[in-house]
Amino acid sequence: MDVLGVPGQINLDYAASAPCVRAAADAVSALLPWYASVHRGAGALSRRCTLAYEQARQTVADFVGARADDHVVFTRNTTDALNLLARAVPAGTTVVTFAGEHHANLLPWPVGTVRLPVPSGPAQAVRALDAALTELRRSTTPRPTAGPAAVGRETVGPKAAAEGPAAGRPVLVAVTGASNVTGEVWPVAELARVARRHGARIVVDAAQLAPHAPVDLAALDVDYLALSGHKLYAPFGTGVLVGRADWLDAAPPYLAGGGATEHVGAATHDVRWTTGPARHEAGTPNLLGAVALAAVCAAFDAADRGALHDREQALLARLRSGLAALPHVVELHTFGPDVPRVGIVSFVVAGRDSASVAADLARDHAIGVRDGLFCAHPLARRLLAEAAARSGRRDLPPTAVRASLGLGSTPEQVDRLLAALATLA
Ligand code: PLP
Repeated sequence: MDVLGVPGQINLDYAASAPCVRAAADAVSALLPWYASVHRGAGALSRRCTLAYEQARQTVADFVGARADDHVVFTRNTTDALNLLARAVPAGTTVVTFAGEHHANLLPWPVGTVRLPVPSGPAQAVRALDAALTELRRSTTPRPTAGPAAVGRETVGPKAAAEGPAAGRPVLVAVTGASNVTGEVWPVAELARVARRHGARIVVDAAQLAPHAPVDLAALDVDYLALSGHKLYAPFGTGVLVGRADWLDAAPPYLAGGGATEHVGAATHDVRWTTGPARHEAGTPNLLGAVALAAVCAAFDAADRGALHDREQALLARLRSGLAALPHVVELHTFGPDVPRVGIVSFVVAGRDSASVAADLARDHAIGVRDGLFCAHPLARRLLAEAAARSGRRDLPPTAVRASLGLGSTPEQVDRLLAALATLA
């Protein structure tokens, strides 16, 4: 897959926003002359745009392995998608998440959300979720006063998930697919199995997983998935929430306005909202964004994902072993050094402020990285404290530097970063 870029600039910040692939740029260019309203016009241009928009929805659905009856709602990005779901969960839903999440998967959830501590490893994450859901069920199951039928049920499948651990109290587990701080891949399938066993639903924040690995909603048995187009080599402005239709169709529309209604009468209360994705997509949609995202999905589907994976893992290994060889650099990790991870590495340079490291890399080496706490403050702060304890160094800065790899990354770029970091000793 051909990635657009600027000659001379080394972009090692794919986790923030990935450069656009040529397939997406071409798809946008091809549609520009046809530019017309979506879902609203009878003209040929408009009909073509409507078709392109709905085809894009189907392509994205196929890309993430959506079930036939799932909705694919176009949003602005992952943050928007998770906020939409947060507004759509039935009243009384308990959300369970981990403190290691990106803010987008930490902050939208309602008051009363159970935030589990950052786990020490994938197996511990699964155990912690199991324990939390067991406790939740115990505390919400009515006492068996009316015979065995009143005892909490062990049920399986989406219907059970809709009912939750106790009737009327749905539970939604919200986890990341891959960490934007460490690149570590979370045990999504196992967490989904635990959620299912307890009659809970699960949403996966796939913002960082989808650009690096195939994601299959149905195979993982995940209820909802959110991702951002701009992290997946499409332009800014498009994301998706994919998942079970029932909560989405029953929820108040995320945006109120044209396109989300079946009927609007004269009285203010006389509104019948439509069902389906359009319920949450009021207003003129971002056709070019949807088409670009679909073009990327199609390009990934046509690509050899195994080869892309192997290539990225080789670059990642080169980067991590190079960093490990620099005595003044300490890598951050949650689950330990040896779990599966995507091409994202965060580290600190001892004795150096991370913002100045990033600025030096940009100014002196034309290398773009990110510094800070990466919109995952609780996790990043904890990992920085652990890195200080592990390394025994007292001169580690309070924020980190993140280098992230993608389709346009090369061994030479990795070596240039390592060489630049070596000069910062
Ligand atoms: N989730 C994760 C894991 C992320 O890394 C990010 C962005 O960095 C988001 C969610 C939010 O993505 P967006 O800013 O596109 O909404």
